[in-house]
Amino acid sequence: MYNPVTPSVVEALRLIVGDGDVLAGDEALERYSHDETVGLRADPEVVVKVTSAGQVSAVFGLAQRERIPVTPRGAGYGLSGGAVAVHGGIVLSTEKMNRILEIDRKNLMVTVEPGVITGDIHRAVEAEGLFYPPDPASLDSCSIGGNIAEGAGGPRAVKYGVTKDYVCGLEAVLPSGEIVTMGGKLVKNATGYSLVQLLIGSEGTLAVVTKIILRLLPLPKVQVDLLVPFDDFQAAADTVADIIAHRILPTAIEFMEQDSILAVERLLQKQVPFDDAAAHLLIQLDGNVQAAVEAEMEVVGDLCLEHGARDLLVAKDRPTRDRLWEARRKIIDSLNHESPVNHMEDVVVPRAEIHRLLGGIKAIALRHGVRIVNFGHAGDGNVHVNVLKDRLPDDQWAALVPAVTEEIYRLALSLGGMITGEHGIGATRRRYLPLALDEAQIALMRQIRAVFDPNQILNPGKIFP
Ligand SMILES: Cc1cc2nc3c(=O)[nH]c(=O)nc-3n(C[C@H](O)[C@H](O)[C@H](O)COP(=O)(O)OP(=O)(O)OC[C@H]3O[C@@H](n4cnc5c(N)ncnc54)[C@H](O)[C@@H]3O)c2cc1C
Repeated sequence: MYNPVTPSVVEALRLIVGDGDVLAGDEALERYSHDETVGLRADPEVVVKVTSAGQVSAVFGLAQRERIPVTPRGAGYGLSGGAVAVHGGIVLSTEKMNRILEIDRKNLMVTVEPGVITGDIHRAVEAEGLFYPPDPASLDSCSIGGNIAEGAGGPRAVKYGVTKDYVCGLEAVLPSGEIVTMGGKLVKNATGYSLVQLLIGSEGTLAVVTKIILRLLPLPKVQVDLLVPFDDFQAAADTVADIIAHRILPTAIEFMEQDSILAVERLLQKQVPFDDAAAHLLIQLDGNVQAAVEAEMEVVGDLCLEHGARDLLVAKDRPTRDRLWEARRKIIDSLNHESPVNHMEDVVVPRAEIHRLLGGIKAIALRHGVRIVNFGHAGDGNVHVNVLKDRLPDDQWAALVPAVTEEIYRLALSLGGMITGEHGIGATRRRYLPLALDEAQIALMRQIRAVFDPNQILNPGKIFP
């Protein structure tokens, strides 16, 4: 279906981006053959590091003429293989488009290039007393372009929503090479279909985003974190639903099962308080008035104790808060360290169903005799489910993964949920898309894709079964 990248194509790419920004040797390509998805690799034939929308447009022109696939890539921290060139061809990296172009205090907007690391946006706007809430746990590694393509979320989604709630304007290059500007520094915009929202979560299959305008909030003045250990896994899960039912909206409610805490301790060689507890909740509250935040903290604390919490560890200052969050942010790395072969799911359910989801996953683990470690954004109904191979024989593992995956998906769907809340369909979940979406929706999505990219040169092999 596609043509190979020939030496003359490589030469043409060098003319577009310059010699130093075209990588074609095996060693250089290795870094771009994978993202953070365990067990998925595919070598690109060439990598180009673009620095402008004009260069992206020229790369598309060449790719269209030569019929070569183009896979956009931000920081390569995705967890569904979206940036992996499963059909070979060109990997188009935005890593050099990493400038924060403007922090507009009057309009409360920041304009950035797609390769900026998300944590750098946080730090830059916070220095100005402003706040960009979406906070994927990978924030010091992933790019804002990747966040937009994946519709990334993070712990603070409980109160503040996800990436899509903050994007007001985009510049993007269509596979035809046309450069399009959508939206702007606008809090409201009802002009035609929202193409901005269509591109968010499109997993790099419709266009390459080259400039982004994000809405900001004033930085909350007070923030408190609570680490709450429970001896009973189900009691911790029940508490999450109960907090929400009490009309309190914490900034974040993260759930960490004991196995995930122990794995972090082994990786970091540091002890986490109450590591013998069956599960921890990490709850964050914020606001502008100290007394109001503390009053909510008391209600949340009382609810936790009513559900059998062993203790409440309160962190009010930055170093203590950072210590509590360090454990949470290191869970994925720790589980990879613990069992390098593993399988991670990212299901989402209505938040009131979270306790049923967690209970159901425990039952699946017992039925299959496999170690499954749950952690994640319980407050917004999104749980990361890690199935660990540990010492299971290869053939047993190979048979077990699809069976367990399908059971987890069916459980989430039966609770009114979806098969991924953050990490996207990408290359790894596409065969399961028909479980979650009916034929009519998938057909509509295929048609939308065909309008943007009739020749299917942009990120083929993703999303669609
Ligand atoms: C330890 C860890 C923790 C994580 N925690 C979270 C979390 O809390 N929440 C969450 O949502 N995700 C999380 N992730 C997943 C991942 O970090 C996010 O999906 C992130 O958005 C990926 O960004 P990236 O720059 O690495 O994108 P990449 O992996 O490079 O690309 C991801 C997708 O975006 C496309 N893309 C990239 N840039 C562009 C562009 N400019 N235009 C068009 N398409 C583009 C690619 O083609 C690909 O399909 C985590 C991952 C890890 C490893």
